[in-house]
Amino acid sequence: MAAVAAAAEEDVIIVGAGQSGLAVAACLSLRGVRALVLERDDCVGSLWRKRAYDRLHLHLGKKYSALPHAPHPDSAPTYLHRDEYAAYLDGYAARFAVRTRLRREVRCARYDRATARWEVEAVDLGTGGQTERYMARFLVVASGENGEKFVPEVPGLEAFPGQVMHAAEYRSAEGMRGKAVLVVGSGNSGMEIAYDLAAAGAVTSIVVRSELHLVTKEIWSVAMALYPYLPAWVIDKLVLLMCAVVFGDTSRHGLRRPAVGPFTMKLTTPAYPVVDVGTYAKIRTGEIRVLPAGVKSVRGNVVEFGDGKRHPFDAIVFATGYRSTVRQWLKSEDGLIGDDGMAARSYPEHWKGENGLYCAGMVRRGIYGSCEDAELIATDISKLLRPQQEQGNGF
Ligand SMILES: Cc1cc2nc3c(=O)[nH]c(=O)nc-3n(C[C@H](O)[C@H](O)[C@H](O)COP(=O)(O)OP(=O)(O)OC[C@H]3O[C@@H](n4cnc5c(N)ncnc54)[C@H](O)[C@@H]3O)c2cc1C
Repeated sequence: MAAVAAAAEEDVIIVGAGQSGLAVAACLSLRGVRALVLERDDCVGSLWRKRAYDRLHLHLGKKYSALPHAPHPDSAPTYLHRDEYAAYLDGYAARFAVRTRLRREVRCARYDRATARWEVEAVDLGTGGQTERYMARFLVVASGENGEKFVPEVPGLEAFPGQVMHAAEYRSAEGMRGKAVLVVGSGNSGMEIAYDLAAAGAVTSIVVRSELHLVTKEIWSVAMALYPYLPAWVIDKLVLLMCAVVFGDTSRHGLRRPAVGPFTMKLTTPAYPVVDVGTYAKIRTGEIRVLPAGVKSVRGNVVEFGDGKRHPFDAIVFATGYRSTVRQWLKSEDGLIGDDGMAARSYPEHWKGENGLYCAGMVRRGIYGSCEDAELIATDISKLLRPQQEQGNGF
């Protein structure tokens, strides 16, 4: 049996060293609170290093993609490449002296009423499985909405003779030239991967089952800039007007828009508009084929769709999203985290639970949401830890 080390006492344990965990740690550090971040991977910001395709650039301009107290420099490009953002996260962790223990996978966290502490068990993946124990007055869940890949169950998929991968494993279209590739899923990843494949000469098809709002980076930047000044319904109208000019009627090419406007949708649902990187032009010219029905089954290399159509493929990329894994390790029933592993309460009431439990980055609000959560959580924890000091220092 693996050895269990004695419990280490901390003020705050943060689970996950993505942007949310780092932002909380930095905001705490600025308030004089030292937190410990436990991260299962061997680096900070692993999403951008290990689970993102090569051509990925942030969809929002740098103004909206900076973590608290660290704006991107003038010299940075407007839309950061994945590697630039990962390097920014490295620099951020160093600048705010974030204490991180890498290769520590949290397997259990429960609140002990007797000691009024969170007891956290993490496995040291680097040493082959030693269990470490930590105790902390505050626990911050920052393990992300992307805990594990989600691939729907498809009868016959296991016998598909070609390559099958999830978007998290897709890096580039290398080796795909001339091959018939099916992309399942039409969110931002699926649409961009379809573009990448088609641009490299793959015979590309994409399943677009759901309605979606196609926008451009520029249109979305305008929407973000207007947000402080105009109600969402006015922004929706302006965005749709600009989209009509740029794209025309996208439903003619199989991309139906939802009845609810794009900005209202972003604010009120987990769905996010799709930022076009050139995919639509390839759909219009037929370089990318849109398939309207979901994948039903696979027989050999032939995929059968929900509308009864069948097409052969050489490879399949599932851009079907992720699932949070928080419910696997967080033993708490206080209602902060729902059955789906995401925040149970909707924004802006989502971030604080009972007994010193918090969550950051769990309401699908991207980098901007991580920043808001970090400031709220750090302010709250520092007030509870140091009430007198807080009254005097202006935070
Ligand atoms: C391909 C892609 C592109 C995106 N582009 C944008 C964009 O342009 N703009 C934008 O605002 N948003 C974008 N997003 C949304 C993005 O997911 C979130 O903004 C962001 O990743 C959330 O950061 P996070 O720190 O909350 O989670 P993550 O980045 O997922 O970090 C969570 C960390 O927790 C660790 N972890 C998980 N479980 C455990 C455990 N049990 N023990 C220890 N550690 C654990 C993980 O290894 C991970 O490092 C994109 C998402 C994807 C997938």
